[in-house]
Amino acid sequence: MSLKKIAVAIDGPAGAGKSSISKVVANQLDYLYIDTGAMYRAVTWAVLHEHIDVHNQQAVEQLLPSLNLSMEPTETACKVFIGGENITDFIRQPKINDNVSIIASYKAVRQYLVERQRAMAAVGGVILDGRDIGSVVLPKAELKIYLTASVETRAKRRWLEVQGTPNELPLEDIIASVTERDEMDKNRKESPLVQVPDAVLVDSSDMTFDETVAHILSLVEARTNYE
Ligand code: C5P
Repeated sequence: MSLKKIAVAIDGPAGAGKSSISKVVANQLDYLYIDTGAMYRAVTWAVLHEHIDVHNQQAVEQLLPSLNLSMEPTETACKVFIGGENITDFIRQPKINDNVSIIASYKAVRQYLVERQRAMAAVGGVILDGRDIGSVVLPKAELKIYLTASVETRAKRRWLEVQGTPNELPLEDIIASVTERDEMDKNRKESPLVQVPDAVLVDSSDMTFDETVAHILSLVEARTNYE
């Protein structure tokens, strides 16, 4: 008798802690964690690296066939490569934050990445986090979670995270960047960020990291049947 492994979709706004929480939950369950935001960030990195204007949708689309994007999920991170180059450390920079929602609004970019996300998720026992996982990528996921927190809480957490790193920014700038990204992600035409009706809402504003992890683990347990 073994525990059935399910697909878990975690969606929510920027800085809700989806990636760090999903990583820990996946490790505890021995699930595969796929950071889909890192994939949109990688495409954005490549566009900027090639000096393509992010607003030139056609040029961005033309880049896709030659991208050679690959992901390597590990225990501590979801590494991302473009053309064999490990760009994991470059995709959290403010210039990527400022442009990723533009790139993520393009239909061809989404089709390109969603296809890869579904292929990776096909192994089962997976946690995917992003904006459209429960609505588009894995509409049949056994557990869907909408993880959120107040914008102040999310910005403050990110501010603490980047203190002393090259990505350090004043709190007001982080609040502005997070708010702008959320607006774009919620209002775009293609696969906007939504809380689907069958998603469980988890508001972590007044929860610690460990409490949020424990809560999500209990939700997975509740959906996991013995077979
Ligand atoms: O999750 P993260 O903040 O790294 O995502 C970066 C950006 O990538 C989001 O703001 C959003 O524009 C885009 N994204 C998306 N769909 C996903 C994951 C991320 O549109 N599934």
